[in-house]
Amino acid sequence: MKKKMRFNTKAIHGGQILDPAYNSVMTPIYQTSTYAQSSPGKHKGYEYSRTHNPTRTNLENSIASLENGKYGLAFSSGLAAIDALLKTLKPGDEVISTNDLYGGSYRLFKKIFQKYDIKFHFVNMEDIKNVEDKITKKTRLIWLETPTNPMMNIIDIKSLAKLSKKNKILLCVDNTFASPYLQRPLELGADIIIHSATKYIAGHSDVIIGAIVINNKRLHEKLSFIQNASGATPGPMDSFLTLRGIKTLHLRMQRHSENARKVAKFLKRNPKIGKVYWPGFTDHTNHTIAKKQMKDFGGIVSFIPKKSNFKTAKKIAEKLKLFTLAESLGGVESLCCHPASMTHASITPEDRKKSGLVDSLLRLSVGIEDADDLIEDLKQAIG
Ligand SMILES: *Cc1c(COP(=O)(O)O)cnc(C)c1O
Repeated sequence: MKKKMRFNTKAIHGGQILDPAYNSVMTPIYQTSTYAQSSPGKHKGYEYSRTHNPTRTNLENSIASLENGKYGLAFSSGLAAIDALLKTLKPGDEVISTNDLYGGSYRLFKKIFQKYDIKFHFVNMEDIKNVEDKITKKTRLIWLETPTNPMMNIIDIKSLAKLSKKNKILLCVDNTFASPYLQRPLELGADIIIHSATKYIAGHSDVIIGAIVINNKRLHEKLSFIQNASGATPGPMDSFLTLRGIKTLHLRMQRHSENARKVAKFLKRNPKIGKVYWPGFTDHTNHTIAKKQMKDFGGIVSFIPKKSNFKTAKKIAEKLKLFTLAESLGGVESLCCHPASMTHASITPEDRKKSGLVDSLLRLSVGIEDADDLIEDLKQAIG
């Protein structure tokens, strides 16, 4: 029965076990740090909540099920998940990463792990040859986000999976932007999935939480060890809220995608807007790949005003009423972000320029409100 569940059913039931204590239908919040043992070393599988917690276990299994993976691990943030994964590397190892990526990941790579002699190469992965050129005997990990943040470039997961297998390198996909409803990288040949579950998976802008999903047993053992040894685990309340969010993931993603489609089309028609970045446009560079590897195109739309300067972008951002000017994305409410000063401020202006992130670019996380209200709001802000 469980193996055959379709995605929408998995969102409600996937990986969940009914609470053995009272058969409560919802996963209880096991707000406890420790568990009674009947005799030294004899317990029911739970000893201390950093190591394991029943609410977290259900969340880990649920996310694994959504990604069609064997093992899930939850962390206290997306960055804590990335941090744990990077701790599987050794000094001297090399990583090839997309050049257009979440600012916090870039900061973690450059400011923390580079110090421990791990080398990072940042390349444009739309052309696979750029990745091939950087592969050495020391390359251990290929790191990609797709769609990329905030340029909405699409990277071909299947081709990169082939390349990484051929060279015995692990391929990790940060699947935060797409969510498992739209894109499942393990099915396309990736080895590791990272989530900032803070975004679409939890979906209500009320928790900070992260996850890793993998199929490899040895890597799971390594990561479980790091998860417990380093201790960046989420609490039971946040695990519960995330589980609750997951139950509507499929419905939310459908509406996010629908609304973003309408917003993107509106912006493209608007004479005061210069460029609109949304992979659903047939003239988007990698539209064909997006169509192949994603179920729909997601809720994020970036754009540049025709008068491409910071002043114009700032004015639009300030005038928006329904779109809240805030960092983050993926919640039910619409948000607007100015990446150059907010999420991507930790990337040097030169590196931002390299990936096309100009100071006038705005990124919208289109929520699940009525699309017509969102469009009216944009209309008045653009003027
Ligand atoms: C937000 C985000 C992260 C970091 O996750 P946190 O939960 O904020 O630590 C990583 N990758 C992407 C693509 C993100 O959007």
